[in-house]
Amino acid sequence: MSNDLSPEIRARRVFEGQNKQALYQRTEPLSSRMQRLRALKDWIQKNEYLIQKSIYKDFKKPAAEVDMTEIYPVLTELKDALRHIKKWSRKIPVDSSVAYLSTVSHVRYEPKGVCLIIAPWNFPFNLTIGPLVSAIAAGNTVMIKPSEMTPHTSELIDKMVGEIFKEEEVAVFTGDVKVSQDLLKLPFDHIFFTGSPAVGKIIMKAAAEHLTSVTLELGGKSPTIVDNNAHIKDAAEKIAWGKFMNNGQTCVAPDYVLVHRSVKQPFVEALKAKTQRLFSTNSQSQENLRDYARIVNHKHYSRIQNLVEDAVQKGASVAFGNVMQEEECLITPTVITDVPMDAGIMEEEIFGPVLPVIEFDDFDETIDIINNKPKPLALYYFGRSKKRRERLINSTSAGGVCINDCVLQFAHPHLPFGGVNNSGIGKSHGKYGFLAFSNEKPVLKQRIGFTTTKLVYPPYNKGVKVILNLLKKYF
Ligand code: NAD
Repeated sequence: MSNDLSPEIRARRVFEGQNKQALYQRTEPLSSRMQRLRALKDWIQKNEYLIQKSIYKDFKKPAAEVDMTEIYPVLTELKDALRHIKKWSRKIPVDSSVAYLSTVSHVRYEPKGVCLIIAPWNFPFNLTIGPLVSAIAAGNTVMIKPSEMTPHTSELIDKMVGEIFKEEEVAVFTGDVKVSQDLLKLPFDHIFFTGSPAVGKIIMKAAAEHLTSVTLELGGKSPTIVDNNAHIKDAAEKIAWGKFMNNGQTCVAPDYVLVHRSVKQPFVEALKAKTQRLFSTNSQSQENLRDYARIVNHKHYSRIQNLVEDAVQKGASVAFGNVMQEEECLITPTVITDVPMDAGIMEEEIFGPVLPVIEFDDFDETIDIINNKPKPLALYYFGRSKKRRERLINSTSAGGVCINDCVLQFAHPHLPFGGVNNSGIGKSHGKYGFLAFSNEKPVLKQRIGFTTTKLVYPPYNKGVKVILNLLKKYF
């Protein structure tokens, strides 16, 4: 179909075509889904360089980071889906209770139908194509809206999808927020959205108009606790990597650190040394910052700059970093200390290369700080105390937890990924992604003639009452 049509008209036409295709795909053999997944995998493996190049053009993300955080996780999703799709799609028989003795039941997984994927810019390939893998594995047709903030990657995704799929199977709609708004008018069977909590609310309202189900992968402030018995150098190295990789523009990056007062000084020193080693930040030469991505655009650059200025005005100190080059959208890895809790940087998600480090004396303070904020996407604990670790996990709520490391829980193929309330609704990745795009449909088969249910049909005589009392008491 011609892409010269207005986006709204094209969206409606594609939607109609996908609706027909979705009906057809319900009865297709699994091998057709597998063919689509294999075609996607082949394309990615043949065009890794194009993916690296586009993301570099968008925000100078180093090729190794693209391999690690964009290509590898998507290939893992693809291999996992291809390996397990038969098992995931199998009908699951269930036991019958006494009241259902004359029945046989199972759960089967049907595709939801026509799905919409709306993606963010921060992992522009991974967070668009990862959910696509799950949607295809579950048998759906898909309309994709990639982010307008990473135009080179969005263009490449458009080209890739055009080369592999018919528009009735998968179609891409590039463009700005208006394109997203047009798409949201359509009665999709499922919407999978990754982005900010603020836009997540807009998506959920639009979905409510059609009672469309949603998966919302959102963000928030992910707390990181460094306890007094943590291995300080090990913790500092892992936090420096998790925070400053992708220039801090990672939904599960440590947003702020709560460090025990007794280890604060050595921790900040170790953080500085590890950050310098990982990202060569002791030199101002841009040559030496080639392993460090940039902030995606000037709007976000100014937002982060303002957050740091506000914190400093309210009493925070810059421990290291904070070298800025506006034309390059560059802020070097920055750590600030003595940050007051009412500074903006402790209220909004930072989503950039700035890490506030805040001291605590009593471990319960960490639990209070976390519980006084919206539920985070991730919670990190660095330390050796099983008792405190368990207290932290059980006394707070978070989308996921990682102990003595950070970020890794995101890409583990056998763990569900997602937030809770403000940080998200629903789960994704692997089997959980397949489930997000499937309707779990129960099917009950009754026998003809005598059934256990008929024993309690009216008239409600003494015999019926005896049976009901037995059921209530014993089964
Ligand atoms: P965003 O919410 O601004 O935009 C995401 C998508 O929504 C884009 O495609 C955009 O075009 C569209 N959009 C924006 N405004 C819209 C509107 N008013 N109506 C309809 N559509 C609209 O998010 P972003 O800036 O691209 O990404 C950053 C946010 O995403 C952060 O909060 C981050 O934590 C979160 N995030 C979450 C995950 C996760 O897996 N949970 C992963 C990455 C990013």
